[in-house]
Amino acid sequence: MDYPRTYQEFRDWFPDDAACVEYLARLRWPDGFICPACGGDRCWRTAAALWMCADCGRKTSVTAGTIFHRSHTPISTWFAAAWVVTSQKTGVSAVGLQRVLGFGSYETAWAWLHKLRRAMVRPDRDQLAGVVELDEAFIGGQSAGRKGGATGKVPVIIAVERVGPRKLGRVRFGIDDAPGTHRMLEFAAATIAAGSSIHTDGARFLRGLATMGYQHSYVTGYNAPDIGQVLPGVHLVASLLKRWIAGTLQHQVSLAHLPYYLDEYAFRFNRRTSTAPGMLFYRLLQQALATDPHPLATLIAK
Ligand SMILES: [Zn+2]
Repeated sequence: MDYPRTYQEFRDWFPDDAACVEYLARLRWPDGFICPACGGDRCWRTAAALWMCADCGRKTSVTAGTIFHRSHTPISTWFAAAWVVTSQKTGVSAVGLQRVLGFGSYETAWAWLHKLRRAMVRPDRDQLAGVVELDEAFIGGQSAGRKGGATGKVPVIIAVERVGPRKLGRVRFGIDDAPGTHRMLEFAAATIAAGSSIHTDGARFLRGLATMGYQHSYVTGYNAPDIGQVLPGVHLVASLLKRWIAGTLQHQVSLAHLPYYLDEYAFRFNRRTSTAPGMLFYRLLQQALATDPHPLATLIAK
């Protein structure tokens, strides 16, 4: 795979915007340019980031339809932000990004982080499979201050693959309306492959899983004190997630944006065994190319 391994390599690979554009083009068209209008593969370069189809004449920007599109900021700054966000093991807060990149405002750094977080969800991601633990945990509720802070705790649905006695696979998060609703069943149907073996606590409505094409094992005693022993995977993930939110985000978690923080945490967790820092950077850019642009207004409206 094709990515810089260290910060020095990152600097060498991307000295200017042109180098960044070439890299995006390689990610977007690994087998060479393909015209999105006619499928032609012959082209001319007409401007820095524009490819013109030799068959139909249509011009295509390598950043069209991505989070980088129509940004007033140089693409090399976007690359630097993506590197900062992915090269630190636990990520970075908006304040941290603002400091490293010298952004004038906190709001700018915050908006960038959210655009990058949107790119962390793979649009076509696979379903979990095998043995999967499913449960809920309360997240949030520790406001850093009054303005926009958290007002309560949110029930977050957690599904994690158990691939060995002490080994976890991939994770998915969802947000419930209230603790223990049927949304957990909808979440399971959307994120866990049929035929999987799902382990849960003994809540009665979860027994519906057995009629949805899953093998369902559950432990009775909903409030059993040893529930952490019964579902060790989800409880470990819940405590890591809480620690990450407290440490990296420094409690600056608005509940309205919790889904994006969950996306970022899932992105990191599911790639935690990738040792090269550049690997996350590569994946993030690759996914960013498949992500619609999100103007700041739509982020705030959410
Ligand atoms: Zn064409």
